Amino acid sequence: MALTGVEIFKLLPKTNCKKCGFPTCLAFAMKLAQRQASLDACPDVSEEAKKILGEASAPPIRPITFGTGDKAVKMGEETVLFRHEKKFVNPTVFALEIKDTEADDVIEAKINDVVTSEINRVGQLLRVDSICITNESGDAGKFAALAEKVAQKAPDVPVIVATESPEAAEAAIKPFSGKNAILYGVTDANADKMVEIAKANKAIVGAKADGLEALSALTEKIKSTGVEDIVMDSGARKASELLEHNTYIRRAALKKSFKPLGYPVINFVQRDDSMFEALIAGLGVTKYASIVVLSSAEKWKNLALFTLRQNIYTDPQVPMQVEQKIYKIGEPTPDSPLIITTNFSLTYFIVSGEVENAKVPAYLAVMDCEGLSVLTAWAAGKFTGSKIANFIKESGIENEINHRELIIPGYVAILSGAIEEKLEGWKVTVGPREANALPAFLRSRAA
Ligand code: SF4
Repeated sequence: MALTGVEIFKLLPKTNCKKCGFPTCLAFAMKLAQRQASLDACPDVSEEAKKILGEASAPPIRPITFGTGDKAVKMGEETVLFRHEKKFVNPTVFALEIKDTEADDVIEAKINDVVTSEINRVGQLLRVDSICITNESGDAGKFAALAEKVAQKAPDVPVIVATESPEAAEAAIKPFSGKNAILYGVTDANADKMVEIAKANKAIVGAKADGLEALSALTEKIKSTGVEDIVMDSGARKASELLEHNTYIRRAALKKSFKPLGYPVINFVQRDDSMFEALIAGLGVTKYASIVVLSSAEKWKNLALFTLRQNIYTDPQVPMQVEQKIYKIGEPTPDSPLIITTNFSLTYFIVSGEVENAKVPAYLAVMDCEGLSVLTAWAAGKFTGSKIANFIKESGIENEINHRELIIPGYVAILSGAIEEKLEGWKVTVGPREANALPAFLRSRAA
């Protein structure tokens, strides 16, 4: 449980030496209790106090990295119940279930569905992140063969090995040893053997229990063996149970600092009806699931779930934006046109898409306007003649192109004079007002 400020104070040196940056030990203790300071700031705290306080000041939901390399995903670390308080941090991981009873062609197709699932949406790469292999057959050899196949065909994809049989677990976890896989199916009955297997293969422990009380007891038991990285399944499968359990777990971890439930949650939402499955998966994304296991990954479903996840995990107080830079569209040459716009993600996405449609290679100068669209940025004084001129000068584009012509959005035609005044030797051309007129505009110039 979380310690109060006074409880923390009792563990500090009480010398009021101020080395932590606070006037007194008590003031520092109060900040620690509110998680607004780090214990490292006090150089004189005893080792024993460090141990107690370190545990008490750990994040309420343990941060865990699942997988390794570029496709590793982070889970946990959430600090709020509602995204308007402060953004949600680590997006829900989508995992596609592959059963060892499925036909070879189905298995191949499912692996391919995961490997090819990546899409670029408003500048972010979104995909089905993981594969969950399940030992439906009960046959350890069959399960191991599936594990080998997945490891070979999707070597970078983080994997959940799901079985309650220590024999099958031992056989199938091998190809993922040392890759931060999840060994799911650790129950009260098999915990001793399964935890050993997970430890030997540096896997995250996937705890499975029937109900929240049993789950708390199980995570405590697993933790007592020295395991820190756990993901939890409360056994909830019905939508109403998922909502209830996920919410209870998040509240217990954040509001009561209840450590036994302070781990990322895994939800199994597989349904025969894919549309219904998408709906339940959406519930998991919206309400606190760190992993959602699906039975299929059709493109339509992916798009709906990716979009929902992206929206839930963006900061509602900050507009979505892309990096300020000169983007190359196609393979532009020094004679290719230079177009400018703002860095609101949607603006960038639409404009760059239309320039691609034009099939006229071009440079797209995307200027940082704090994520505002063109007209809003102009009205807010962030997309002005002098700011545009500075950006163009500092971007280095003058060294890449032979001409000195800048195409600006039609809605801010009024800026032409101010830009030409600040950008000596440049000509400003007013482009179309709407991005969908860009292809015709660019093609007519190239003709
Ligand atoms: S550095 Fe440590 S001992 Fe000194 S005031 Fe801060 S908490 Fe107290």
